[in-house]
Amino acid sequence: MIKFEETILIMAKLGNYITGKWIEGDGEGQKLYNAVNGELVVTASTMGLDFASILHYGRSKGSPALKKMTFQERGRMLKALALHLLEKKEKFYKISYKTGATRPDSWVDIEGGIGNLFSNASLRRKLPNEIFALDGENIGLSKKGTFAAQHILLPKEGVAIHINAYNFPVWGMLEKIAVNLLAGVAAVVKPATVTSYLTEAVVREIIASNILPEGSLQLLCGSAGDILDHVISQDVITFTGSASTGLKLKSNPRVLKENVPFNLETDSLNCFVVGNDVTPSMPEWDIFIKEVRNEMTSKAGQKCTAIRRIFIPENKMEDVCKAIIISLSQTTVGNPENEKVKMGALAGKFQREEVKDQVQKLLASSQIIYGSLDSVEVIDADMEKGAFISPILLLNEKPLTSEEPHNIEAFGPVSTIMPYRNIDEVIALSKKGKGSLCSSIVTANEQFAKEYILGAGTFHGRILILNNDCAKESTGHGSPLPMLIHGGPGRAGGGEEMGGLRGIRHYMQRVALQGSPTMLTSITNVYQPNSKGHIDTIHPFKKYFEELRIGDQLITAKRKITSEDIDHFADLSGDHFYAHLRSTNFDGTMFDQQVAHGYFIMSAAAGLFVDSYEKNPVLLNYGIDELRFTKPVYPGQEIFIRFTCKEKIEQEIKDVNPEIPIKKGSDIPKGIVKWYVEILDDTEDPVIGIGTILTMVKRKFSNE
Ligand code: NAP
Repeated sequence: MIKFEETILIMAKLGNYITGKWIEGDGEGQKLYNAVNGELVVTASTMGLDFASILHYGRSKGSPALKKMTFQERGRMLKALALHLLEKKEKFYKISYKTGATRPDSWVDIEGGIGNLFSNASLRRKLPNEIFALDGENIGLSKKGTFAAQHILLPKEGVAIHINAYNFPVWGMLEKIAVNLLAGVAAVVKPATVTSYLTEAVVREIIASNILPEGSLQLLCGSAGDILDHVISQDVITFTGSASTGLKLKSNPRVLKENVPFNLETDSLNCFVVGNDVTPSMPEWDIFIKEVRNEMTSKAGQKCTAIRRIFIPENKMEDVCKAIIISLSQTTVGNPENEKVKMGALAGKFQREEVKDQVQKLLASSQIIYGSLDSVEVIDADMEKGAFISPILLLNEKPLTSEEPHNIEAFGPVSTIMPYRNIDEVIALSKKGKGSLCSSIVTANEQFAKEYILGAGTFHGRILILNNDCAKESTGHGSPLPMLIHGGPGRAGGGEEMGGLRGIRHYMQRVALQGSPTMLTSITNVYQPNSKGHIDTIHPFKKYFEELRIGDQLITAKRKITSEDIDHFADLSGDHFYAHLRSTNFDGTMFDQQVAHGYFIMSAAAGLFVDSYEKNPVLLNYGIDELRFTKPVYPGQEIFIRFTCKEKIEQEIKDVNPEIPIKKGSDIPKGIVKWYVEILDDTEDPVIGIGTILTMVKRKFSNE
């Protein structure tokens, strides 16, 4: 079998993985060069491909196969894929150097991307073992409880089309497909052509692993052709790149006509604010200088989240400029394979020319205080052959009246430093960027931070508040995390992706179901209040996980609550709140007389629904999800419980590491069962309390 490195040499053209095959496009293809030495790496072409049939293949083969899998299966698939790619990572690092990236830059791209797969795989624990998910709670729609509603999320039947930027050829793909695959939707990925050889290498490994169902991932290396002219309403498009291309694609008549969701992530003039409390003697000062240097130079500034605008209290400008310049002067530029090098090359010479052009535009109102557009000292490389550029720090002294620093993005190691006088001014300056992915503020002053966030928050997708308390463990200004949303308003595109479970909603259709509670229970497999239950002669605690049915129900015997019970509970728990004491004068209180503790009622409920002194499949009580007491219980009142199996959540046996002793019980096959507990009496308004309790229940058979 031909290995990838050899493949490049022999074919010299990247493959497109479409309709179940690796296919080369026609013609000579676009030449892709090594960013470090200018040598030709490979060519790429999608010419002659039938884009309509590529989309059709994803919809008819990949998405249906994924849709048949439950979230648990899809999650385990992502985990297997992450483990597989991790094994192959060194191969990707080697190729990544050609894009100009240093090893730490590539770590963000490669292992950051794989981390996204792991993180999305773990989300399965928050999702049912179903092909769909519930969205929110049951909503009662009638007085007698016979008509209700529940929102559900169903995987869309189209494909996710991801058109990505060149800066993160691995992360850009993996962070997106992790989400659509978990949602049950196939993907067609079109990386930016200039660095697509790295994406191609990863996709070759993914396809060869056979971990994904066929059709769930297709790859295009080269032009996107007329792909958007063939989209349908069930598809989802994501675009990461420049605002101008984004606008053009978003305005495609077919996209508009079919109302295809279009997630746009574009330029962003992210800003960093230094609080007016920060002085050179504070740890926050060094934290800030280090963060700015990192953000300017990591990935040679080709990060959508990179800091482009730095706002400093005007009386600290001189000190800050000096400190950043000293810090930047320690940045060694050159061949990213050389360990002494801290900053590699831009993705290509074309990109370097673009950065230079943008800096020229910025110079209309700013001056360069560090770096040069014409030269940079490089280590172990040839300045002429590679796409090297020096870090460039600009100074703009009139930011309120200058437009350039707030409108022009130089997608490289370029930032502009600007003064502000007070909190209102820095909020106004922050907003002049017209919407960004991320803003950071470094301050030890909580009030200053709060005012900034309340004032400028709606203009940023994410805000990092840095100080000495969190700096050591902070993930930094420039790291979008899989659990947090990534995206921003206005100029940043108005899009939003990732964000844990929020992300999968972009690939699922939310449907509001209305009907009888019993019908909704049977469709959703989660017990809905007022549904008919199944009363059985076998107590539900005597059933194994597999034997329990949603709706299995127990109506308990009655128990009279006495004043002595309440006194005893007060003594036992130490809770002598006045409402639980007989001696209290109840004038002016919420109660008529001594009232039972809510927790006593819940404990008494457990005494009614828990069965048997013998061991049974219930392993332990896991907690209470929610608990409400809706009316007081006075001495003499009789209560009883309606106890219903509400939801079952499968659990996997944890991977057993022979080095680590097994935690007691961790190897028992089991699942979580949620029980709907209704505490009732015999009055016309019978509900005293409602709760959902969780138990861990043994499986009869292992699910591995
Ligand atoms: P770009 O030129 O707009 O290209 C982005 C993607 O669109 C590439 O895959 C490109 O493919 C494709 N494309 C270009 N023209 C197209 C067309 N007519 N039809 C279909 N696809 C088309 O942007 P870039 O230069 O690669 O990326 C740099 C920009 O991306 C910067 O402005 C940066 O701020 C932004 N960015 C934003 C984020 C974010 O999350 N907000 C992240 C990263 C980058 P080809 O390569 O084949 O032209």
